[in-house]
Amino acid sequence: MTGTESTSHVSVISLGGTIAMTPRSTSNHGVVPALDADALLAAVPGLQDSGIALAARSLRSLPGASLGFDDLNELACVITEDAATGHSGFVITQGTDTIEETAYYLDLATDLTLPIVVTGAMRNPAMAGADGPANLLAAVHVAANSDARGMGCLVVMNDEIHAARHVRKTHSTSTAAFTSPNTGPLGCVVEGQPRFHTRPGVRPTLPSDRPRRQPRVALVPICLGDGGELLRCLGEHLDGLVVAAFGAGHVPSTLVPLLEDHARRIPVILTSRAGAGPVLRHTYGFSGSEQDLQDRGLINGSWLDPYKARVLLHLLLARQATPDEITAAYQTATSLPVL
Ligand code: ASP
Repeated sequence: MTGTESTSHVSVISLGGTIAMTPRSTSNHGVVPALDADALLAAVPGLQDSGIALAARSLRSLPGASLGFDDLNELACVITEDAATGHSGFVITQGTDTIEETAYYLDLATDLTLPIVVTGAMRNPAMAGADGPANLLAAVHVAANSDARGMGCLVVMNDEIHAARHVRKTHSTSTAAFTSPNTGPLGCVVEGQPRFHTRPGVRPTLPSDRPRRQPRVALVPICLGDGGELLRCLGEHLDGLVVAAFGAGHVPSTLVPLLEDHARRIPVILTSRAGAGPVLRHTYGFSGSEQDLQDRGLINGSWLDPYKARVLLHLLLARQATPDEITAAYQTATSLPVL
């Protein structure tokens, strides 16, 4: 059977974010996280008539920027435990600022067939045209739908369905902020029905127990005229490094010895700051090119953007992956959708 089943039971877990923010009662200093999962569900027109049974759980009440790996690890454990108790799917509500990273973390750290759908809002509940209720309703419809099974973590915003491994927040205020630059959305929600045009490829998963220590992984962007000040300051304080290089994976030649030095001690992942497209493997040969950096030990981040590459490295290091396992993980991390 496909579609929304009569017995659908969706668990909605709230973490905070603009979708849950209301003005402070005593001051004029803007909105702050306040609404819990029950309040979010109560504000959605049409949800009661959907026939979908809902459970509400409030796990955090934070802006997206203040979420961390400990929060996500706990969330992944909660989802995995609850999945054994008869849910059809999960919806996570949170701040949109970090959705492209948190959703990818869940994509990697959970090994479930059930849909996990992350959503939020670009406009808070006090604004005209607040998008939170519509996004939450669409997310619940996707989480309850058996067609969404086996796709890993999904992000539903603005009636579009995106794969966590491809989605980016590409606008700071627009309700159409979420796009998948390399692939486009997987589908859309129309009249409460999820419609999938394509499916993501097979994904690697890295479920792990609560880690004893969080690895320290930095992301360093490379800029015009970069003198390497930041790379030099990092010293030996890191377990892993992601470099957001120019274009197809290029840095100024003056930075090559610094990066080579880091790559001798820790995994250094080469990604592109361009916003779409892969890091090349064998096209350019100048000092600081993708080939030069690979020859000096940097690992090609392939199609993963810098932020997702950092999430993957965090999980790999938390599981004490070997250098070969780390290299292999980046080769397989972003298989593009297949029809
Ligand atoms: N700053 C907000 C947050 O991430 C933005 C949002 O939710 O849209 O919490």
